[in-house]
Amino acid sequence: MTGARPQPPPPLDLERTEFDVLIVGSGFGGGTAAYALSRAGLKVLLVERGGWPARDDTDWNGRAILLDGRYRGETPVGVRQSGAPAEVDTFPNEVVGGNSIFFGGAALRLRATDFARWPITYTDLEPHYAQAEALLEVHGRAGDDPCEPPRSAGYPHAPAPLTAPAQRIAEAARALGLHPFHIPIAINHAGTREPKCVNCFTCDGFPCRIGAKNDVTQTALAKADPANLAVVARVLAARIVERDGRVVALEAIDRDGGRRLTLRARLFVIAGGAIGSAALMLRSGLAARDASGTLGRNLMRHCNAMMGYLFPFRTNPEHVNHKQICITDDYESVRAADGTALGVIQDMCMPPAEVVRALGPRGFRWAAAVSAERIQTLLCVAEDDAQAANAVTLSAERKDAFDLPVANVRHEYTQADTRRRDTLVRTARRVLRRAGGMIGKVRLIDSFSHAVGTARMAVTPDAGALSPDCRVWAFPNLFVVDGSFMPTSGGVNPSLTITANALRVAAQIRQDFGALTLAHSGATVGKLPV
Ligand SMILES: Cc1cc2nc3c(=O)[nH]c(=O)nc-3n(C[C@H](O)[C@H](O)[C@H](O)COP(=O)(O)OP(=O)(O)OC[C@H]3O[C@@H](n4cnc5c(N)ncnc54)[C@H](O)[C@@H]3O)c2cc1C
Ligand code: SF4
Repeated sequence: MTGARPQPPPPLDLERTEFDVLIVGSGFGGGTAAYALSRAGLKVLLVERGGWPARDDTDWNGRAILLDGRYRGETPVGVRQSGAPAEVDTFPNEVVGGNSIFFGGAALRLRATDFARWPITYTDLEPHYAQAEALLEVHGRAGDDPCEPPRSAGYPHAPAPLTAPAQRIAEAARALGLHPFHIPIAINHAGTREPKCVNCFTCDGFPCRIGAKNDVTQTALAKADPANLAVVARVLAARIVERDGRVVALEAIDRDGGRRLTLRARLFVIAGGAIGSAALMLRSGLAARDASGTLGRNLMRHCNAMMGYLFPFRTNPEHVNHKQICITDDYESVRAADGTALGVIQDMCMPPAEVVRALGPRGFRWAAAVSAERIQTLLCVAEDDAQAANAVTLSAERKDAFDLPVANVRHEYTQADTRRRDTLVRTARRVLRRAGGMIGKVRLIDSFSHAVGTARMAVTPDAGALSPDCRVWAFPNLFVVDGSFMPTSGGVNPSLTITANALRVAAQIRQDFGALTLAHSGATVGKLPV
């Protein structure tokens, strides 16, 4: 089922249909909610600003995907970070499946300790983690991760055998007294559906040309009830429309032709990603309805770096995907001092040589491309602190091609963030040296690939934009289920947590649907009347 997408729904007059649920955004949050709510018998419309992944040879072309930006949208996000004096425009990828299309497949659970500042506990989320692992068909082995949280079930599939580059890292880490283990991974190695992964070199950062990565299109959308779900691509959510304390419609723009649409539903779920959802809610004037003043703030993205070492031999001559090893030994080492996790170290592939050549220093590009074959890298993912000043805002001056204000992002790390990252980098250095590496170089990661936190959930309306059920406090029928809800970033990659939480929220919506769609906001700040 290459490029599996739900059967095209019967032609719908979108503007004349009132759906039970309208979801904005088709990433892990929105796609998972669409899966769960359509299977619960609700009529769901999912709108996504991007088109479907092409799944042709170009999807595995380093230049097309990483340099030319085949999936980049035309709407900029102005990013000001690392002390820079002004914003620099970035153009996020826009595609059905969201960032799941490009993700590396690492599917880890947060630890019970990561929930200390959340309004829910690990125990609340645990059953949904198990469901999320089943939905994403995660391959892993319970019991190997030295700080693994309690589990009610094993992994759906055993991990694939280690490749030679991953084996090299595992042996070096073990020699240093660490406890490397298989990264739980959402890739179809077991071959329980077609096609099976062929372990190519262009996985993390790329769409899977053959559809073997367990992204949202191949899992949540493929398993949703096609009779109850309409996925409409290339439709951009412009504004949420409120009347009498309820959300009644979404104003949207059909990107092919520019037609303005008014879409109606009984309940609305926003899942445009931590930057996209904040921008949509700010455009809709929801900051004025947010008693906490946190909407758009506390943007987190982990504090990440790639530690690369040059080896005296080709490190991956067979060009296989070797994102297979994870190290969590020091995960809890700063908990008492910082109140956070330290983070994790993961094996990762070098970008293809043509990308290294293009990005290498002028005059040394050929040398950079040749040495790329002799480099092996480890990814360091450190927890970062939530800070109110790290925020998504709307530009007062600039409009995009759809006449909507451009979103700006402001982000600076704390000293504690960079200290945690540097601690992980030191361990990664030791591992790579022990594995035979000779000269090392650190590359700091400045993307927002792990963006979370801009609509945090909290116990009371003055502490966060969302209730513990991820409902926007001011409205009975408006929910947010992408990474925005996270009060802290934790020390592991976010996708499995976003998926598990979307399943949790969908279960609550399913249970309370009648009350939620009848209630009026005045009566509902705090506990919903049932
Ligand atoms: C290269 C890469 C590798 C990664 N690897 C991993 C990994 O191995 N493990 C892991 O756990 N995480 C990984 N991540 C992070 C992970 O992919 C994200 O945390 C996760 O996908 C975010 O899901 P989301 O639902 O919050 O939002 P998104 O995936 O951002 O989805 C939001 C969707 O909403 C759409 N949208 C936004 N605004 C609008 C609008 N106004 N109208 C209509 N549609 C809209 C967007 O186009 C997008 O499709 C990786 C990310 C990248 C980029
Ligand atoms: S490694 Fe497997 S899942 Fe990843 S892109 Fe290649 S074939 Fe697809």
